[in-house]
Amino acid sequence: MATQQLIVRVPEIGDFHDVDVVEVLVAVGDRVEREQSLIVIESDKASMEVPSPAAGVVVALALRVNGKVNQGDAILTLEVEGVAATPEKPVTATPPAALSPATGGPRAQVLVLGGGPGGYTAAFRAADLGLSVTLVEQGATLGGVCTNVGCIPSKALLHVAEVIEQARAMREHGVDFGEPRLDLERMRAYKDGIVGKLTGGLAALAKARKVNVVRGGGRFVGPNELRVESASGAQTLAFDHAIIATGSRPVSLPGLPDDPRVMDSTAALELSGPPKSLLVIGGGIIGLEMACVYLALGTRVTVVELMDRLLVGVDRDLVRVLGKRLEARCEAIHLGTGVARVEARSDGLYVSYDGPKAPPARSFDRVLVAVGRRANIEDLGLDALGVELAPRGFIPVDAQLRTNVPHVFAIGDVTGPPQLAHRATHQGKVAAETIAGHRVAFEPTAIPSIAYTDPEVAWVGLTEEQASSAGIAVKKGVFPWSASGRALGMGRGEGTTKLLFSADDGRLLGAGMAGAHAGELIGEAALAIEMGADAHDIGLTVHAHPTLSETVAFAAEVAAGTVTDVLLTKR
Ligand code: FAD
Repeated sequence: MATQQLIVRVPEIGDFHDVDVVEVLVAVGDRVEREQSLIVIESDKASMEVPSPAAGVVVALALRVNGKVNQGDAILTLEVEGVAATPEKPVTATPPAALSPATGGPRAQVLVLGGGPGGYTAAFRAADLGLSVTLVEQGATLGGVCTNVGCIPSKALLHVAEVIEQARAMREHGVDFGEPRLDLERMRAYKDGIVGKLTGGLAALAKARKVNVVRGGGRFVGPNELRVESASGAQTLAFDHAIIATGSRPVSLPGLPDDPRVMDSTAALELSGPPKSLLVIGGGIIGLEMACVYLALGTRVTVVELMDRLLVGVDRDLVRVLGKRLEARCEAIHLGTGVARVEARSDGLYVSYDGPKAPPARSFDRVLVAVGRRANIEDLGLDALGVELAPRGFIPVDAQLRTNVPHVFAIGDVTGPPQLAHRATHQGKVAAETIAGHRVAFEPTAIPSIAYTDPEVAWVGLTEEQASSAGIAVKKGVFPWSASGRALGMGRGEGTTKLLFSADDGRLLGAGMAGAHAGELIGEAALAIEMGADAHDIGLTVHAHPTLSETVAFAAEVAAGTVTDVLLTKR
């Protein structure tokens, strides 16, 4: 068979010079396919894999790892089979994306701003659909708030807290492990190790998908251009479509002292201390999760919440299960109370309160402010894009995640509540698929929420209070965990599972659970809502015994009137 030798060269790489060769992916003798990556090159701003222009066998390598290359330099010689013998002619690999006349660099079909769960999911899905993708992230790692300073580190610490509490609880049942000796350094290393594993995995996934990850803060400077600035310089990137995924940050309370003892959730996850006393301002999910962590570590915790209840928006019967346990463990929970003033003194933070039930002022070693999160919309150059904001300061989008500008999309926390990682990831996929030409929409019937407190509270779809205020007739099935063998075996019979079915067509409209590991049960209810399941569908599905998941089936049986594990009260 006729063969031809091709010299494969470094393609057009814009203004970059003396770029590092960070990986050589093939060796002499290897057979490579067309488009197979040959080398990875990296400048201080971006990394790029160079694909093979043809299938063949590598007969010579012209460069090595850690070397420097420029456009046109030879990479390797390829023996290409099945080509009529013609005079040997050097060939150049095609660039991975069209070039932008404005910037000289590769023009991305999709530019994603922000590498959190929304952003990296959108970037990966777009790349999997064959689009050229640039992902811009100002942080040191991908993963955003969720992976670096949110969902993941908080759940690692909540796991530690759970084990401590379980060990304490075992005293009652004949096993005394003694008081735990805390090594905060190792605890932090455990948490940071999990975060590192996940962020490292994301970097590898980005690389494997040939997503061009650019480090730096991005600002739009035109309808199709983003300026990225980092410590090592600035560059302008051109794009066809943009996905804004810049997330959110904690809301800070005005008038609080600038003092390291006043923490936001990120500082609280650092576990410096633990303090003897902590005031948590805000009785929402993040505040109460961190309260549970610090309670397990032995801190005396007080919670203050402006509204007259914890976990606003969740049915009171579910919150009561958590409230009872927290009341027994916290120093105090002040509802319907605001913080009037925090004064930083050398011996503590002196806090005075506002409101009819305001307790006397007192001092705390630390204060955690967890009063909500606000969308990152500032300094993005949205004017240059023409993107409009909602009055409440987030980017409104349609079911395809399009902003008012047709080629610009927004996903995740920057699009407003509910600010949850799983909402961001699903939105990311829909945005990427829409850009790729698919006819898709982000229209979930329900999005589950979980407070990973002790005990957990989880809910999805319609709440009982929403049903009653909207005049929606529902049929309710409640199963108390005091009748669940599994819950009792875990020493956690205080939980409850509630299902709300439509009085009209019998479909499940909403569900809520409070109890140990309740968060693991909510997925079944979410699926049942999406599938239009009724009480019989759920109750007749055989659930393994003894499991907490049985409480979902039993609650459905309560609604259907077929339950045998509890006595039904006559209505
Ligand atoms: P983010 O995760 O906020 O990511 C946005 C990214 O954009 C960031 O990495 C940021 O650096 C980058 N960025 C912003 N502006 C620019 C710019 N101009 N240039 C370049 N990069 C930029 N959610 C859950 O669903 N479950 C949980 O258990 C949970 N626990 C949480 C616990 C805590 C303590 C906190 C704080 C949050 C928690 N959340 C949880 C919320 C969750 O973290 C967010 O909903 C999720 O991270 C939102 O994802 P996102 O992609 O929209 O944005």
